[in-house]
Amino acid sequence: MKAAVFSARRYDKAMLARANVEAGHELLFLDERLTAASAPLAAGCAAVCVFVNDTVDAEVLALLAAQGTLLVATRSTGYNQIDIAAAERHGIAVVRVAEYSPYSVAEFAVGLLLAVNRKIARASVRTREGNFDLDGLMGFDLHGKTVGVIGTGKIGTIFARIMLGFGCAVVGYDRYPSAAFEEMGGRYVPVEELLACSDVVSLHCPLTEDTRHIVNAAALARAKRGSILINTSRGGLVDTVAATEALKTGQLGGLAIDVYEQEASLFFQDLSSAIIRDDVIQRLVSFPNVIVTGHQAFFTEEAIGQIMQTTIASFTAFERGEALANRVTSG
Ligand code: NAD
Repeated sequence: MKAAVFSARRYDKAMLARANVEAGHELLFLDERLTAASAPLAAGCAAVCVFVNDTVDAEVLALLAAQGTLLVATRSTGYNQIDIAAAERHGIAVVRVAEYSPYSVAEFAVGLLLAVNRKIARASVRTREGNFDLDGLMGFDLHGKTVGVIGTGKIGTIFARIMLGFGCAVVGYDRYPSAAFEEMGGRYVPVEELLACSDVVSLHCPLTEDTRHIVNAAALARAKRGSILINTSRGGLVDTVAATEALKTGQLGGLAIDVYEQEASLFFQDLSSAIIRDDVIQRLVSFPNVIVTGHQAFFTEEAIGQIMQTTIASFTAFERGEALANRVTSG
C-alpha cells in the first residue's frame, strides 16, 4: 500500500522504514506538516500517516478523500487532532497506536517533576559557567507529600506507582475509576479535593471537549498554594495564560510541560535562529521555576519501535481487508 508519511523527521524515517522491511509498503516521507496546503502531496496514497501536530480537520479530510485516501493512521495514542466524524462521513478509516510503552511518558513526567522541584536544569547551566552556588536551588522532599493524578489510565497508573515508590500519598481523579489504581494504594477523590490537597498535580487524561482547560484560572485558584503542575498529556488541558498569572503570584510554585496549547507551529523543529512571535511561551520559559520540553515524553527506543510496528501492522491489515485492532470511531 502507498502511504504518505507527514511530519517525518529523521528518526521517523529510519524507524518506520525498519518496521516496514518485511511488509514492503511504499512509504512517501514528507517533511511537511499536513495542512490543507500540503494535502495535495498525498495524492494517490491510499494511506496517510500523521503525528500530533498535523491538521486533520474536516477540510483536510475532504481534500484527502477526493484524492483517494482511505486510511489515516496517527503515530500517537491521542487523536484529538483528527475530526473522526468527518473522516467517517468521507469513508476514511482512522487508526491510532492505542498502546506503546506507557513507561516512556510516565518516567518522563517523573523526570520533569524532579527537574523542576530540585532545579536540576538550572543547576546544570550554572555549573557549566563555573557557578557552584546553591542559592535559589532549594527544593522539597517528595517523600511524604501528596501527588494528584488526573487520568488514571495506562500512563497515569504507572506514574502513580512510581510516586508511591517515592513514599508519596497518591490521590486520583478519573471519569472512569479503575480498581488497579486503588489496589496499588491510590485513593480517588473529586477533582476539587485533588487540587486542594496535592503538592504535585500531574495530568494524564486525553484532550476532549470535557477536559479542555481542566486546569483553568478557577482550578488554579483552588489548588494548594505553591504546588507544582506537570503536563505530559496535551497542551489544551491547561489554560497557559492562567497558569502564567498563577506563577506570577506564587499560587503555582512550579510548572513543567512537555506539551503546549500552541505547540503546532513551534515543536519538532529547530527555531533557534528564528524570531519566536509567541509571547506566551517566551514568558513561560523566562520563569526560573518553569521547564518546557518539546513533546518528547514518548521518545524512547522502545516506544518508537512499537509505534512504527503498530502503524505498519495497521497498513497491512487494512490492505488485506482485515479488522483494524487500533481503529478509532466516533461511536
Ligand atoms: P488511557 O486511555 O490509558 O488513559 C486516559 C485516562 O483518562 C482514562 O483512565 C480515562 O478514563 C481518563 N479520562 C478520560 N476522560 C476524562 C475526564 N473527562 N476526566 C478525567 N479523566 C478522564 O491513555 P494513556 O495511554 O494513559 O495516555 C494518556 C494521555 O497521554 C493521552 O491521551 C495523550 O494525550 C497523552 N500522551 C502524551 C505523550 C507525550 O509524548 N507527551 C505520549 C503519549 C500519550
